[in-house]
Amino acid sequence: GRFLPGYGEFEGRTTDAVAEPVVEWLHEHELLVEAGTISHRYPVCWRCRTPLVFRVVDDWFISATEIRQLMLDGNDEVAWHPPQYKKRMDDWLRNMSDWNISRRRYFGLPLPFYPCECGRLNVIGSRAELDERAVSGLEQLEELHRPWIDAVSIRCEDCGAEVKRIEEVGDAWLDAGIVHFSTLGWQNPQWMREGNATGAARGVTHADLPDHTYWEEWFPADFVTEGRAQIRLWFYSQCFMAISLDGRQPYGSVLTYENLLDENGREMHKSWGNAIELNEALDRMGADVMRWLYCEQNPSQELRFGYSLADDVKRRLLTFWNSVSFFVTYARIAEFDPSTPVGELRPLDRWLASRTSAFVTEVTENYERYWMPGVVNAFERFVDDLSNWYIRRTRRRFWDGDETALRVLWEALRTSLQVIAPVMPFLAEHLWQNIVSKDKSVFLYPWPEAGEIDEALNAEVAAVRQVVELGRQARATSRLKLRQPLRRVVVAGADGARSHADEIAEELRVKEVEFGDVDASELRVKPNLPVLGPKLGAALRDVREALARGEFDELEAGRFRVGDHELGPDEVLVEQTGKEGWAVASADGVTVALDTALDPSLALEALVLDLIHQINALRKEQGLELTDRIRITLPAAQSELLEHEDWIKQETLAVEIEIDGDCAEPQIAKI
Ligand SMILES: [Zn+2]
Ligand SMILES: [Zn+2]
Repeated sequence: GRFLPGYGEFEGRTTDAVAEPVVEWLHEHELLVEAGTISHRYPVCWRCRTPLVFRVVDDWFISATEIRQLMLDGNDEVAWHPPQYKKRMDDWLRNMSDWNISRRRYFGLPLPFYPCECGRLNVIGSRAELDERAVSGLEQLEELHRPWIDAVSIRCEDCGAEVKRIEEVGDAWLDAGIVHFSTLGWQNPQWMREGNATGAARGVTHADLPDHTYWEEWFPADFVTEGRAQIRLWFYSQCFMAISLDGRQPYGSVLTYENLLDENGREMHKSWGNAIELNEALDRMGADVMRWLYCEQNPSQELRFGYSLADDVKRRLLTFWNSVSFFVTYARIAEFDPSTPVGELRPLDRWLASRTSAFVTEVTENYERYWMPGVVNAFERFVDDLSNWYIRRTRRRFWDGDETALRVLWEALRTSLQVIAPVMPFLAEHLWQNIVSKDKSVFLYPWPEAGEIDEALNAEVAAVRQVVELGRQARATSRLKLRQPLRRVVVAGADGARSHADEIAEELRVKEVEFGDVDASELRVKPNLPVLGPKLGAALRDVREALARGEFDELEAGRFRVGDHELGPDEVLVEQTGKEGWAVASADGVTVALDTALDPSLALEALVLDLIHQINALRKEQGLELTDRIRITLPAAQSELLEHEDWIKQETLAVEIEIDGDCAEPQIAKI
């Protein structure tokens, strides 16, 4: 900034250069009290860091006084998601100052204000009005922008003098705020081909400008979505314009969200090296993974974005991909035809149908309230059930080409593609074309209706899955191999799982499943020293030793009695551990205890399972088809495994097993 005429010796000099001379001038005129340096915050250009200089100017404003209450009333009718942002909008509206609409820039929407010396402010309301009142410059007017618009002068409405437009252009949010009016054909008598934004968008889009009936049909909008900063910008300016011109709120519901940070929670800046360019991200992670990443996060917290988060999403989506791929593999072998009437359903088939219905209901409800984390979470839990329970428990039927299993799985996959397509459109469409229709897009099918939900059956299977999960956790603590069969498991607190003992036995590789009290676990109680130390003082030592010896009584509500002392729940640390010979895990009132004792027959079964695993790995290595039959040759040392010959044959598609004293490792040959 430079000093203007009227500042004497400082005229024409920069604000930077006059700091010293001003001090000297004040000193010479005996006006200086004190000179020195103080540290303070100072505004700089956000882009190039040049220090900025404030100056006082006149600007154009729209008064907020009259419209404030009308906008507050309008906001009352809007459904905000997440709901707490409605109050943010109210706060902004209550505190908003008059709207500064003028900008001293070259590019932008020219403000159509033509002030006259007589005191009249002429305002042009339309292109037609400009044509009518112009006295010169119309012939060179290419479009309603500078420089052309500045060369058009009009006649003052009051005194007839020739007047010029002010130089300022409008705040960009004026344009953004009239988006409905400029694109939906408001007051436009005739449909204009490629006339979007009344010609202002020429060269940018070929979109049409519809006529007023289109406006009537589509205004107000059902839904808008943008970042939280738009409360003070776009959400506000749309509302300001719509309430002013039409009297109605321009949108029915809003989905808003917080800022995007990098995956470590830092702002992204090119200069920090952590900014990610959109096209690069689309190439590296894929558009669907990117959408998934956004959708799974709570929009009212700052969003994280980056490649390792994307890898995690990919890993999770892979489960679904693999499920479809599993289906396709066996559907091909069985020449699956979805129009074949479905056979009799087994309990697990009925469960998957019921589980799918529950999933559709849950997802639909989450979509209705624009809660994407709920949609994504429901999908991931459903895929876990589909893949890690239905397919896992049914895989033998697929090996046998069971049409009912194929049909039930197909229905579940088809429905899940329909409901998840809005979140992952490309992948969903690709898979849809693979397993449902090559001719008709997933987006052209109606939303699926949820079928019947068997709540009791769904709860039963959920209980079974919980027992199996705890059983696996218990096994993991025992250091026993996953393939080692065990004698017995005791389950407490999962009554719904009672009728599924066979499945639990198979999943956990145990011979017997018992439901009842688990006395295989014991309570270990230790003093919570930071709390109990100060309270008990010298008595702590005795209490601690008594607890270690197990000399305590369990009271109500997590309290314990040790000798004369009663200990509260926050004064002790309680642990449920397995007794010697047992592996125990518990959660949410369910306890699962595995008997870890082994005998020779269990040990032999483990060896058989190892062999089956090894043979099937060989099948894969040698590129055998899923249906190929084989002959197995075993070293003499493994001949004891032949006690389970039928079992081995069944699991490896072997027709023959022979013992050969010369071979050192099991071998297979295709027949
Ligand atoms: Zn700058
Ligand atoms: Zn005038």
